[in-house]
Amino acid sequence: AKEQGRNQFHFFNDQMQSDAERTAKLTNALKLAIENDAFELHYQPIVCAKQHRIRHVEALIRWRHDGRLVRPDEFISAAEASGLIIELGRWVRVEAMKTLLEFQALELDIGMSINVSTFEFWSHNLQDCLINSITETATKICSTGFPFHRLTLEITESLLMKEQVHLINSLSQLRKLGIKIAIDDFGTGYSSLSYLSEFPVDIIKIDKSFIRDVNDKKQAALVSAVVALSRALNLDVTVEGVESHLQLAFVSEKEVDSIQGYFFHKPLEKTALLEVLTKH
Ligand code: C2E
Ligand code: CA
Ligand code: CA
Ligand code: CA
Repeated sequence: AKEQGRNQFHFFNDQMQSDAERTAKLTNALKLAIENDAFELHYQPIVCAKQHRIRHVEALIRWRHDGRLVRPDEFISAAEASGLIIELGRWVRVEAMKTLLEFQALELDIGMSINVSTFEFWSHNLQDCLINSITETATKICSTGFPFHRLTLEITESLLMKEQVHLINSLSQLRKLGIKIAIDDFGTGYSSLSYLSEFPVDIIKIDKSFIRDVNDKKQAALVSAVVALSRALNLDVTVEGVESHLQLAFVSEKEVDSIQGYFFHKPLEKTALLEVLTKH
């Protein structure tokens, strides 16, 4: 047993070392990628539930690495752990806000959603740092008044875990500018529903796991309950992950406001997106 214990210990140790090495390598590669401008944004259209018209897009980061397109699930947590998410988040906002101005120049009435990591939100030690970064970017790239009312920031439930006066203030300030706040991946966190009335938010995005199986009665009941609650609190509801006719039929019955999913559009490169939008 002692022998075995020692082996396990060794194994565990080696495992940890290679994890640490892997993280270090990834972190270095991310640093280089930031220097070399190796990131790009793709944009996934979000359609209104009634007419299926594109009203909005969500900016989703990609990393061009070794000739392949790396998706965020593979590097966002490393970026958060290393603090690189601050720089990356800023890059995403500048890029997405510039694209929003392009929409405006083309007279397209389309909004832009940007993901903000919880880590990124808290790492700004001044409560108003995120808003400063956004307003500075806005004045830098637009002299005629940035269309903040077309901008949505997507945050996750983990940010709302504890009610926080600072957080409520920051979100309120952002909303005063006209920016909308969406709660992403709704239903996957552990917090209570009560914060929905406490925090200044505008949109609930129901996580795709809740519509994976439309025959699951519990999930269907949950979707209905969230829609009813959102109605009562005057929030908009977006459903994510609609891939099939069946799922579309299911969410169409629930009176949601907007739908996002491969059924309508996958995330698109900017040129492809602009083509879709100008033809729409
Ligand atoms: P998310 O914010 O929940 O974004 C939606 C994800 O679902 C995207 O994955 C999108 O491609 C995928 N998706 C959309 N429609 C469907 C569908 O019908 N079926 C399925 N199976 N998937 C669908 P993606 O682009 O790989 O992004 C993964 C996550 O990475 C995002 O989840 C978000 O949490 C994070 N992320 C992406 N871009 C950024 C960013 O710029 N900053 C930060 N902090 N996080 C980001
Ligand atoms: Ca999102
Ligand atoms: Ca989501
Ligand atoms: Ca997610």
